[in-house]
Amino acid sequence: MTRSTTLKSAEDIAGAGLLDPARLEEIEKVTQQYVLAITPDVAKLIDPADPEDPIARQFVPSARELETTLEERADPIGDHAHTPVRGLVHRYPDRVLLKAVHVCPVYCRFCFRREMVGPQGDGMMTAEELEAALVYIRSRGEIWEVILTGGDPLVLSPRRLREIMHGLATIPHVKIVRFHTRVPVVDPRAVNDDLIDALTASGKTTYVALHANHPRELTEAARSACARMIDRGIAMVSQTVLLKGVNDDPALLADLMRAFVETRVKPYYLHHPDLAPGTSHFRLDIAEGQRILAALRGRLSGLCQPTYVLDIPGGHGKAPIGKCAIRAEDGAYRVTDFSGGEHVYPPNP
Ligand code: SF4
Repeated sequence: MTRSTTLKSAEDIAGAGLLDPARLEEIEKVTQQYVLAITPDVAKLIDPADPEDPIARQFVPSARELETTLEERADPIGDHAHTPVRGLVHRYPDRVLLKAVHVCPVYCRFCFRREMVGPQGDGMMTAEELEAALVYIRSRGEIWEVILTGGDPLVLSPRRLREIMHGLATIPHVKIVRFHTRVPVVDPRAVNDDLIDALTASGKTTYVALHANHPRELTEAARSACARMIDRGIAMVSQTVLLKGVNDDPALLADLMRAFVETRVKPYYLHHPDLAPGTSHFRLDIAEGQRILAALRGRLSGLCQPTYVLDIPGGHGKAPIGKCAIRAEDGAYRVTDFSGGEHVYPPNP
């Protein structure tokens, strides 16, 4: 096996030099439980000589995935509790998630939906299920935004994406369609004119939220894929997961956020890792995350600042969890500047 095709088994990654053959058996146990895929573009980014390589850590399985802690759960962000029709999650009043597909081009070892994604998952929504989801969206005038997530919606064929966009185009109160994807980074050549066309529809504004966690992921090819979409009128934002051993370092995160902005991708969310099974080796303490975020405040242009968020386990939605810079005390406000100095701001008389 070479690194020119997608690697899908422990044997494949050993054959491509990304796994010590002595560990084959233990990693096969992991892949029996959690699906594996590494695209050629991602494989090329991995330095096999570095045992701590941050790209490998995201995609090459580890025996630690078989260790599940008490607080971890199969559905960490509570999708099931908010699923009125199959494939649709309605957690917040003005937006829904549409999970049209359950496969991804790569499988992140820290994935929050690792129990749902992969070929063993629920597969693609059928035409009837999509119609039922559209009926639900049409019947609720408060739904302003539809977020295609998954699985990775950009693995769908342009024909299928067009069907979805045409369906949404008939619903006047839906103004925004957002796609959550890793494709521009992990398979940039797939972002061709046909695919980009399929992401847009008359009367709708399209956003693409790009998931990337390390500055090395923003290769020239990935940046060009983003530019092709943005040049065609698609707005882009970023999503990053704060991961131990991958990006838990202010200087590295600063490089990543700057790379997003240079690519015209506005930094949006920095996620605290979810309580997905077998992912404790990726989680850091929230206090450590807050310290990293505070260090970014002084270091980086406001354009580059993401919002540090936690998905509250059980389906209660996202909460911003960065340290608040202001507090009320003794009838006034005390506000902290980026280097830690405290200042008084008066209340309104
Ligand atoms: S791309 Fe998203 S849904 Fe797919 S494995 Fe990675 S985190 Fe999970």
